[in-house]
Amino acid sequence: MVFQIIILVLLVFIFITALRALFFTPKKDKSEKIELADEKVDVDRYCESLTGAIKIRTISNYDRELVDWNEFEKFHKYLEERYPLVHKTLERTEIAEASLIYKWEGSDPSLDAIALLSHQDVVPVNEGTENDWEHDPFEGYNDGEFIWGRGAMDMKNHLIAVMESVEQLIADGFTPTRTLYLCLGHNEEVVAAPDNGARQIVEHLKGKGVHLEAVLDEGGAMLPVDVKGILNCNLAGVGVAEKGSMNYEISVSAKGGHSSQPPKHTALGHLANVIKGLENHQFKAKMPAFVYELFTQIGRRCSYPARLITCNLWLLKPLVLKIMTLIPPAASLVRTCTAVTMAHGSPQFNVLPQKAGITVNFRTMPGVSFKDVERHIEKAVGKEKVEYNLLVGKEASVVSPTDSRAFRTIKRLCESTDEKNLVAPYLVMGGTDAYNYEPICENIYRYSPFLVSTGLLLCTHGTNERLPVASVEEALKFFKRYIKEMTKE
Ligand SMILES: [Zn+2]
Repeated sequence: MVFQIIILVLLVFIFITALRALFFTPKKDKSEKIELADEKVDVDRYCESLTGAIKIRTISNYDRELVDWNEFEKFHKYLEERYPLVHKTLERTEIAEASLIYKWEGSDPSLDAIALLSHQDVVPVNEGTENDWEHDPFEGYNDGEFIWGRGAMDMKNHLIAVMESVEQLIADGFTPTRTLYLCLGHNEEVVAAPDNGARQIVEHLKGKGVHLEAVLDEGGAMLPVDVKGILNCNLAGVGVAEKGSMNYEISVSAKGGHSSQPPKHTALGHLANVIKGLENHQFKAKMPAFVYELFTQIGRRCSYPARLITCNLWLLKPLVLKIMTLIPPAASLVRTCTAVTMAHGSPQFNVLPQKAGITVNFRTMPGVSFKDVERHIEKAVGKEKVEYNLLVGKEASVVSPTDSRAFRTIKRLCESTDEKNLVAPYLVMGGTDAYNYEPICENIYRYSPFLVSTGLLLCTHGTNERLPVASVEEALKFFKRYIKEMTKE
């Protein structure tokens, strides 16, 4: 009898989960769709503008003495020549060495302003790889299919699209009700820059009493996803948060001496246990609300068999988390990651190390503090006696909401242009200028509206960075529409 009851319960359960999956489809909410007016955009002009922008070598460097500031000056002049209406209509302020703020005053100053962010700087081309490029990285070559060059994806493409859109909106006769700021930092690519341009922009705005309703920066993109028979969509991952990055030095001390009479374990031997401890005791994986939402959004678009899992996440979460931790890119979405990156021991072969150390990079999830990481180190190293100290680091950002006007606008604009488009919240792995805006804004989003493949995204900071020309038209339309919608009231 008990056996029959168990079978019955199991059958009912399977029936319910299968039924849930059947009706787990995209929500059809009419109010979420916008009637999109066609926007006038000029793709050829954009391509010319981007080519010109790539030619200017705005390479940032941690050491300000090594920066060619003339290039930034040239870049500012270039913007002035290329965007006369912007420079006539918007108020321009130079901040720090080469950062810029443009302010387009709205007709109702009592409303919170919005900001569009871009950085002007690019990373250098690695020495010795210049000849691996199909086209010179600072030529901005346009072969009709791609625009090639450093910054074509990160992120002169985005900066130029914003400038073109504002220039065009002024030409169209548009005037904003809310104030719009364009904030162009000059050293986003320099990790932990002491003279961070974005931070100084924020200090300036804060000093003026500015509170922003929304910030839009780089960080997410629109990716075509095609998993045969399961999912076929353009996935727009909008970064609602970014991970923290903390670098610790962990060291072990020992007596040292001559290598001819070594102890059972040298300092490096003990350090090996520390490394093993750190790699074997990872942070616990957890599914933050926005990752759950990401899966749910994607799940609704999947074919029936996949929906059996995605619509029953409430039940299968532990299993899904377990599988995710086995796949590094997936694991990075759900837990703080530990990477042992550098090591040092004795200075010579025949000298026992008196101190051996490693550098560990922790990529932290939102909510994980320095204290949490230190507690984790203490637990993971077990019995080994170590010293640890923080070299440099920052905590993860806060998580921006997915029900704000800005997020809903991005979602509606993207999903209204093409049935295939799907917008979902996402966690950005690297750092962005947007992080600095937390003191003056609660709704910070990281998204570049260019439809690009994962392969192309991987060229960012690498060889043959290039932008597909086919992605330009929709990106320009997106920015014009976003500015119109967001500054409307
Ligand atoms: Zn960037």
